[in-house]
Amino acid sequence: MVVKKFGGTSVKDDIAILRVIDICKNEKSNSVVVVSAFSGVTNSLVELFDAAKASNTARASEIIEELKSRHIDTAQKLNCSGATIEFINSTLTRLNMILDALVIIREFTPRSNAVFLATGEILSSLIIADAFAQCGLSVKHIDSREIIFTEEKFIDAEVDLPKTREMTANLVSEAFDTEKVQFSVCGGFIASTLSGQTSTLGRGGSDYTAALIAEALKAERLEIWTDVDGILTSDPRKVPNTKLIKEISYDEAAELAFYGAKVLHPKTIYPAVEAEIPVFVLNSFNPENTGTKIIGHSIWKNRIKAIAFRENVTVINVSSNRMLGTFGFLANVFDIFKKHQIPIDLVATSEVSISMTVDNGPSLDAAIKELEKFSHVEVFPGKAIISAVGDGIRNESGIAARFFGALTGINISMISFGASEVNLSIIVDAVDTVKAVNMLHKEFFNDTTDNEIFVNLGQK
Ligand code: ADP
Ligand code: ASP
Ligand code: MG
Repeated sequence: MVVKKFGGTSVKDDIAILRVIDICKNEKSNSVVVVSAFSGVTNSLVELFDAAKASNTARASEIIEELKSRHIDTAQKLNCSGATIEFINSTLTRLNMILDALVIIREFTPRSNAVFLATGEILSSLIIADAFAQCGLSVKHIDSREIIFTEEKFIDAEVDLPKTREMTANLVSEAFDTEKVQFSVCGGFIASTLSGQTSTLGRGGSDYTAALIAEALKAERLEIWTDVDGILTSDPRKVPNTKLIKEISYDEAAELAFYGAKVLHPKTIYPAVEAEIPVFVLNSFNPENTGTKIIGHSIWKNRIKAIAFRENVTVINVSSNRMLGTFGFLANVFDIFKKHQIPIDLVATSEVSISMTVDNGPSLDAAIKELEKFSHVEVFPGKAIISAVGDGIRNESGIAARFFGALTGINISMISFGASEVNLSIIVDAVDTVKAVNMLHKEFFNDTTDNEIFVNLGQK
């Protein structure tokens, strides 16, 4: 049993979906095919909800019409059944009615937001399952809200693993063993709360859905199909001459995802690691390529494999001379962040001061007010984290010197090195991010002759 996940660009239109079907046709094993919303659709749904909130019903109707015609047009080009076309029509008409009601009763809660966001995967999975059938493949559509379960939180919801495992194993085995289909197609990103409401797993969450299903079914392989050749030495949209990494460890891949390499959702790796399932990142536009294999432990250690970055970061400095020589300063600071549910990423400390980074997003005002009761607080928005990732780089002499030597002229406001074996991270001003990432990429990858680990794209 294999799990294959296809991201938004891999299912963006009828041609892309036919490419997905061609890839699946070559598969001999039973497969669960997890699909994202067509590319851009989730962003449109975010805009739709915002338009409704602003009572901009004209813009909202326009978006609904665009979504309707895009989905119906794609479904018709794929020769989908009348029932599928009717489903698209009725789903979006109903969404319009929900929207009108929300504008009146002003119920813009995470729960109603999730109903909007989930629509992309609800539609794409049904259209793609039908397209599989129209191409002669034996397929069953599974509504992911019947197999993936979360706590009663609707956006970025925490998964209930036991229930998810149980329901996934039951429903998918029913499709493969009882109904004898070769493919089950389901949407990523969407789930149900235990009380049966629609919830979502966080942006980019379809990778996570695929990993959860792979773990629940003890799949022999998890394939993440995307629009680049695999995990690359940096983001190809920002850095020229990136190279393909042939093999990367779970730890390295998780760290890269966490520090901003959008190619994988940060949580994807864990369910797969625990179940020791090999994960491959592959290109649906270039299926011949062997991609990147994610393995338990890298055999290529002590060198930087990739440079990741994450923008929209805020640095918070907290200092308190009153705490000099007393206990509990750090604990007090962390307690306040815990209380306000603000996740901290990087930390650097001295005896009476602490620097931390948080993602922009949740309001910091309440936490800062509490911190100010016993300390002096400074907040610096407009920062970015840059991370060099590679198993064992902490133990390799000379790496830090090369890293900092490459960054002449870049103002580094914080450093985190040594806490993990796997990464060396710095904070820079957001405006310097792309320049600094390119300087580092040039230093570590331009002249690399490590053909066993890296592949020059274009010379596969
Ligand atoms: P999907 O829709 O398939 O989930 P995403 O857009 O989420 O695709 O992720 C793929 C994108 O991730 C690539 O197009 C690339 O721009 C970006 N990316 C960022 N860092 C990396 C990296 N180190 N390796 C590969 N891709 C990366
Ligand atoms: N469609 C969702 C998003 O755009 C989930 C995903 O594609 O992984 O975030
Ligand atoms: Mg993605």
